[in-house]
Amino acid sequence: MKIADITPELQRYIRPEPSGDMSYHCLSCNQEFPITELLYTCPECRGLLMLEDRNFTEIKELGGEKWRRIFDHRRMLNDPSLKGIFLYYEFIAPVIPLDLVVYLGEGHTPLVKANSTMTRFAGAPFYFKNDGLNPSASFKDRGMACALSYVNHVAKERDLGEMLAICASTGDTSASAALYASYLSDFLKCAVLLPKGKVTPQQLSQPLGSGAKVLEIPGVFDDCMKIVEELAENYNVVLLNSKNSWRILGQESFSYEIAQDFDYQVGDKVVVVPIGNAGNITAVMSGFLKFFDAGVIQELPKIIGVQSVHADPVYRYYTEKSPDKRKFVPVAVKPSVAQAAMIGNPVSMPRVIKLVEDYEKAAGKERIYVVQVTEQEIMDCMLIANRHGHIACTQGGESLAGFKHAVEMGLVADGEIGVLDSTAHAIKFANFQQMYFEDRFGPEFKVKPKEELKNAPISVLPPGISKFPKPDSPLDREELTLFVKEMANEIAKILQLSPKA
Ligand SMILES: *Cc1c(COP(=O)(O)O)cnc(C)c1O
Ligand SMILES: [Zn+2]
Repeated sequence: MKIADITPELQRYIRPEPSGDMSYHCLSCNQEFPITELLYTCPECRGLLMLEDRNFTEIKELGGEKWRRIFDHRRMLNDPSLKGIFLYYEFIAPVIPLDLVVYLGEGHTPLVKANSTMTRFAGAPFYFKNDGLNPSASFKDRGMACALSYVNHVAKERDLGEMLAICASTGDTSASAALYASYLSDFLKCAVLLPKGKVTPQQLSQPLGSGAKVLEIPGVFDDCMKIVEELAENYNVVLLNSKNSWRILGQESFSYEIAQDFDYQVGDKVVVVPIGNAGNITAVMSGFLKFFDAGVIQELPKIIGVQSVHADPVYRYYTEKSPDKRKFVPVAVKPSVAQAAMIGNPVSMPRVIKLVEDYEKAAGKERIYVVQVTEQEIMDCMLIANRHGHIACTQGGESLAGFKHAVEMGLVADGEIGVLDSTAHAIKFANFQQMYFEDRFGPEFKVKPKEELKNAPISVLPPGISKFPKPDSPLDREELTLFVKEMANEIAKILQLSPKA
């Protein structure tokens, strides 16, 4: 649709110009810093930063009704810069000129409704939001689209010359960073640090394919993160981990899309997300809060964070019900099939603590819960989901396992509907599926495959045939007839087909 064909009173809002007055806000010392410099931690106290827009009051003044109409009309446009996360431009980063937005097809992932079997299994109705359908096959693309658009803006504005982007990763951050950086490869190079042997082959192939330097580090993610921080402290690099608060802004689009897809009625929704470094749950809370604050939504949804027993520091923190007695203690992680969430010392924990407080204050009641699930439940749930039309990764399985727990614990009221984040595509984690099918999990996982969920290819070799077709030597006419007949008979036997009457 052309802008000229949109209702005249909305036209001037449809293609936004930079209007924000953004600054970094330190969560520890409360000081503000201008965004002219790329900051990752507070220059004064090294605290964690959040980005804020001083002009947000103007956004609020426009009113929820108007914003809903603007977003719904923007959906009809064919402008690539507004097709992804920047459909919600004013709520994300209203300082980046639209022509510098990097759009690779991220966002607007589908909500797929659970069928009746799955609804019965979980104990309540739900949808999966398939963030595995982003360009690098995980939700990380939402944040990278924002961070790299900002880098593009800064680089063009100040003519910074060659730059290097760097990140540590459990697999998906580096896949995403490498992809988005490669789009800007005329001035931006990319290097990623991965814990050696702790990412799946598919995840390793992604940054390699995008042309990034891939550095394998002996250790786990938390170790890679420390090294990257040391590098960002001492060298001229663009840090793309979720310490980079531009990424959080982009990831807020997950919440905005849920709101829009349910016609802005989210008071009866229960949004379920796996927690690793806690950037995602931070963004999800922050997104809904901003929409609530501006009147785009009238009620805040429940949010349930999920952690594996093998990496559960956030769960442990919230088991203490009295806020003054809570104390954050990092944990040493054990191997987890939810490898992308296998983090013992989440970088965004200070953001989580603040946002949970803000969120529940705004809602006027308890609205955020963290539940814990076993490795067995994660695997079973992923496989069961994928046997019913979904494409959940292990972390998506974790969301389902967490939702099921929440229903059993009475955290999901009658009439409430789950919206489960399947954070990556199933094929990224095919190796865990294979380990399950072949009963190859080491004792540390405590995963015992259920027979009914196992699957394996069946080699079809009827005893009556001796010659098989090969690429360079096709069968002759008679041989081919015999081959097709015998094969069909054998397959009919295996599948127990009944002959046509
Ligand atoms: C990064 C990631 C997570 C964890 O998200 P955090 O923001 O680190 O909490 C979960 N699932 C997948 C597939 C991921 O890539
Ligand atoms: Zn500070």
